[in-house]
Amino acid sequence: MKTNSYATSSATTPLAPFSLERRVPGEHDVQIEILFCGVCHSDVHTVRNEWQGTTYPCVPGHEIVGRVTKVGAKVQKFKTGDIAGVGCLVDSCRTCGSCEEHLEQFCENGAIFTYNSPDKHSGGVTYGGYSESIVVDEAFVLRVPENLDLAGTAPLLCAGITTYSPLRHHGVTRGQKVGIVGLGGLGHMGVKLAKAMGARVVVFTTSQSKVEDALRLGADEVVLSKDESAMKEHLNSFHFILDTVGAKHDINAYLVLLRRDGNLTQVGVASEPLEVDVTNLIFGRRNFSGSLIGGLKETQEMLDFCGLHQITSDIELIPIQQVNEAYDRLVKGDVKYRFVIDMASLKPTA
Ligand code: NAP
Ligand code: ZN
Ligand code: ZN
Repeated sequence: MKTNSYATSSATTPLAPFSLERRVPGEHDVQIEILFCGVCHSDVHTVRNEWQGTTYPCVPGHEIVGRVTKVGAKVQKFKTGDIAGVGCLVDSCRTCGSCEEHLEQFCENGAIFTYNSPDKHSGGVTYGGYSESIVVDEAFVLRVPENLDLAGTAPLLCAGITTYSPLRHHGVTRGQKVGIVGLGGLGHMGVKLAKAMGARVVVFTTSQSKVEDALRLGADEVVLSKDESAMKEHLNSFHFILDTVGAKHDINAYLVLLRRDGNLTQVGVASEPLEVDVTNLIFGRRNFSGSLIGGLKETQEMLDFCGLHQITSDIELIPIQQVNEAYDRLVKGDVKYRFVIDMASLKPTA
């Protein structure tokens, strides 16, 4: 089926209209008319080939919310008309140890990401959510809580799960002191989720202009990371710090803020290595780790948690024709706090 989308044809060309083929739904497939798709910084990294390995044309987008328009004969969880979500994953082997433990993102035979992954159906690569529709196996489709705003729900499918999963994995609970580094798409979700888990949340930002917003979003305290004396006040005090910065920055400035046995988890992906002074780990037995999105089961748990706590993303809704401008603003840190594409703008009549 011919499907309108936006794609880039090289690392240096802007996103532009592109017609792609979606498969006819198989018996386990769900066909979804995409209503909203969030713009993740990973889309920018991939489109501009900052991590290498991008296949062109590239259709990004992995924060998808839409309406089910068709289901295969064996689909059980969804029916036509349902609202559904698709995140960063569309398939995996389902039999390896990681898949069996509901950690499909670490599939030992290669997770299939929503875009720029090998597509066994087409023989090419997967195409993401900057498009009118998508066809996905129901095992990789999420149920969306009925009480949440749909445009604000789209970013939960990546920014939400990427922050929820490490907070849960490292056992963040009521009363703990949690730091969030970088107040962008991931960071602002991290603040809301850590707060809902009962933590005392401190935001570290490079942007003076985000201080008031951080407090409105639920932070108990905000530190401008360039202010050395403000940083010093937090030495040896954090149980957990989540670093969402996707550029080269001084990680040691945060490691020393961890208390004994504390953990700093890196989710922002810089294209250059970050230098770690190991003495900061050795003294205090501190931990430095990473985390990649989350599996399907945990993504559903996160969506249900957000439904319960009325958590959505703070968004700026844009027509798809403004997506290149949004990328430039994202790179400058000028985002409050997630761009979401209104996919109605992609309709031929728009
Ligand atoms: P974003 O909306 O652009 O937010 C990143 C924030 O980091 C910025 O708003 C800014 O916050 C801060 N920042 C940016 N450049 C900085 C620099 N040079 N030094 C210090 N701070 C800087 O991006 P995002 O969508 O949240 O994604 C963040 C990163 O996570 C990206 O690298 C993305 O690829 C990655 N990611 C990883 C996963 C995963 O599974 N691990 C999943 C999704 C995304 P302030 O203005 O507050 O300083
Ligand atoms: Zn993402
Ligand atoms: Zn697997």
